[in-house]
Amino acid sequence: MQCEGSTKKNRRCKNKTKNDSIFDHRSQSYRTLCRLHTHASRKSDVDQKESDLGQSIPKRTAPMRLTWSEPEPTFFILDSPDIKGSSLIAAYDFDWTIAASKSGGKFPVGKDDWKWLFQCVSVKLKKLYDDGYKIVFFTNQAGVEKGKVDIESLKQKFINVSEELGFPIQVFIACAVNHFRKPNTIMWDYMIEYHNGGIKPDMKRCFYTGDAAGRSKGWKKGAKKDFSTSDRKFAANIGLSFQTPEEHFLRENSTDD
Ligand SMILES: [Mg+2]
Repeated sequence: MQCEGSTKKNRRCKNKTKNDSIFDHRSQSYRTLCRLHTHASRKSDVDQKESDLGQSIPKRTAPMRLTWSEPEPTFFILDSPDIKGSSLIAAYDFDWTIAASKSGGKFPVGKDDWKWLFQCVSVKLKKLYDDGYKIVFFTNQAGVEKGKVDIESLKQKFINVSEELGFPIQVFIACAVNHFRKPNTIMWDYMIEYHNGGIKPDMKRCFYTGDAAGRSKGWKKGAKKDFSTSDRKFAANIGLSFQTPEEHFLRENSTDD
């Protein structure tokens, strides 16, 4: 499994897709990222060692001042005064879209049980951030309500993720089976209304990526069917273009559309 930029074709950095149009593939900065990423991909693939976390991107620690709030019960938001509103929103699910469990379990346990799903994840997020995109995670975490996930560990995990990226991110968590939960659009609507500096999103350039895409068993060799379609429906309900993690980060074509 190869990340974007690691194939011979992609190393030439000449191919643009609709959702990657923000990349100027001829630029020096993009070529540098490609070289960094190609080097990183040779070292490892999905089975990334803990010590590799964050080393695949040049660290530039931006001001963080991250703060959690709970505007309504079971609805948590991570934000920072150092995050500016933007018309460009790069929106993601988190589990099995941005991160896999380090333990190998389906459900991560504790604040340290995570690693990048693909080694190129942090590189791509950093490039989007540098290009003016605001990086936002929207995640359903009903395990909190069920007592299977500790909310304080979960909150610390996202702060750790932001620190590994080197820039502040926004995170919206629906911690119960209620109206905040994807595929309802409340988390997105709330972000636009109260956490984007009054700036309207450019819906043609914003996008959402998630693994709950309704793919059937065998969508790729050995793959189980997706547990849900909530991510694909979340994007559709908002009116955002949608990609799976494999399409977004690896540029793999879906075999199940
Ligand atoms: Mg997920």
